[in-house]
Amino acid sequence: MKIVRSREELRSELETPRRAGKRIGLVPTMGYFHEGHLSLMRRARRDCDVVVVSLFVNPTQFGPGEDLDAYPRDEDRDAELAELQGVDLLWMPDGEQMYPEGFATVVEVGNSLTGVLEGDPAHRGPSHFRGVTTVVAKLFNSVQPHVAYFGRKDAQQAVVIRRMAEDLDFPVEIEVLPTVREDDGLALSSRNAYLTGEQREQAAAISRALRAAEQAAAAGETSTDALVAAARSELRNSGIDPEYVEARAAEDLTPIAKLNGRPVLLAVAARVGRARLIDNVVITPREA
Ligand code: AMP
Repeated sequence: MKIVRSREELRSELETPRRAGKRIGLVPTMGYFHEGHLSLMRRARRDCDVVVVSLFVNPTQFGPGEDLDAYPRDEDRDAELAELQGVDLLWMPDGEQMYPEGFATVVEVGNSLTGVLEGDPAHRGPSHFRGVTTVVAKLFNSVQPHVAYFGRKDAQQAVVIRRMAEDLDFPVEIEVLPTVREDDGLALSSRNAYLTGEQREQAAAISRALRAAEQAAAAGETSTDALVAAARSELRNSGIDPEYVEARAAEDLTPIAKLNGRPVLLAVAARVGRARLIDNVVITPREA
């Protein structure tokens, strides 16, 4: 595996394989790898000739007062783990390279996808996604991958990025892979590193809440309000007061009142200790 820091180096490494018609896969990350990241790398390794992982803790997607400075980092460990998955190129640009002086452009996907599910608007919502889409557009332009891999754990992010790629004619396939979880259901996240032992226990209630909603749907419940209530009740029992629990159409995040055969995204954001955790399930009921 080669570690590259500059865009020039990255492009020159990719020139020969690109000319030879090799399939290039990109896994964008903010580092501090866990099995969720590694599952994306392994899939890329399986399906592509050249696997590029980008590691950049993108300041523009953090809100004021969010955890940018505290965000966990361990480049050496990340490099080892990426190499073990057979990654070819680990690209770790610095802030100066991504946002040089005079940088003045943003890529913004419309409010119907970025202004929903925001919970506390001081923390998330459009400005967060503006940071995400701007940086991902830059990563796509720098790597020019044939395919890019994202996790379902960040379901709204995946919907927003798909929209951007389609709207701006990025010639890239977007692959969204399943959420990797701990044994007790907690979705893996770099931010789980913030949890104390007790909070770690408490955090497991988030996936239990989603499972409770899933079970209610499997038992025949079709009202999304009732599914949300089932999830909220599980959270309440564990002392978690969520920023949001919402049911939305999985493809376009429009509100949805009844399960009607379309896949429904049930998404939760909740603060546990210092960590703001998100998780979701997609419920696909049988045709009514
Ligand atoms: P991050 O480093 O948190 O920005 O995540 C990089 C990529 O890994 C994103 O596409 C995430 O959706 C994905 N990812 C994060 N956690 C998980 C997980 N538990 N399972 C699967 N993918 C994940």
